[in-house]
Amino acid sequence: MSDRFVTRFAPSPTGYPHRGHAFSALTAHRAAHEARGRFLLRIEDIDRTRCRPEFEAAILEDLAWLGLDWEEPVRRQSEHMDDYMAALERLRAQGLVYRCFRTRKEIAQAIESAPHGAMEAYRGSPLAPDEEAERLVAGAPYAWRLSLDAARERLGGFEALSFVEEGEGPGGERGLIRARPELGGDVVLARKDVGVAYHLAVVVDDALQEVTHVIRGQDLFEAAHVQRLLQALLDLPAPVYRHHRLLVGPDGKRFAKRDRAETLRELRARGVTAAALRGELGLD
Ligand code: GLU
Repeated sequence: MSDRFVTRFAPSPTGYPHRGHAFSALTAHRAAHEARGRFLLRIEDIDRTRCRPEFEAAILEDLAWLGLDWEEPVRRQSEHMDDYMAALERLRAQGLVYRCFRTRKEIAQAIESAPHGAMEAYRGSPLAPDEEAERLVAGAPYAWRLSLDAARERLGGFEALSFVEEGEGPGGERGLIRARPELGGDVVLARKDVGVAYHLAVVVDDALQEVTHVIRGQDLFEAAHVQRLLQALLDLPAPVYRHHRLLVGPDGKRFAKRDRAETLRELRARGVTAAALRGELGLD
């Protein structure tokens, strides 16, 4: 096994796995096998309001059924909040994040009322110190957002920020890609309800687990632009990315939990074998 190739499958246990998950997991597992590298499984369960133990159990069961093996122990994000808080504190100490007291509705309005095309993703600014102190005393809830302006200043611009795409973005992007973190705007790094948000946890974990290759669906291609910036701000190594195509159903739409795509357990119950599924996905 080589430490020079470490990849992971990082599902969120918010529903029963479907073909899309199988495709992602098999793709990453095969890449690790071909490179004689390591394959890790990470359970992204920071959002306790949406994650359920039965979904996590189903992930383990379905992956084993597919014939995959992974290293133990499995990293469960909910058990590592201290790591994410330490990263947030590092950013905070450098003045790279600010408290955002706005509600979801206010954020949507701010984006909408911006001059046409001027703001696709939210950009905000910290409150004046006395106003902020007032809200804090009143116990108003807030999220921590990354300040793109502060990040740009710290790095002296984003021109030198890039990542390698060995797969393909949704627009056919590949090779050396210049990161455009402004696509994400001032992303939320710590949520009011959950304590940490997706981008921060992923970047911290990929570094701690020494992931060299991030293999995942094209729906997360845009996330790489934001994550590359966080890596730079936290002095973490940049992994290589391999975004893969998304599976589409017979109706041409992509598989997603919310569309009630057939789950792997349903498929198994009607007698589909793992070998048949791997064949259908072109990964046997
Ligand atoms: N947990 C994310 C998801 O299930 C994937 C994160 C990643 O691969 O970077 O969509």
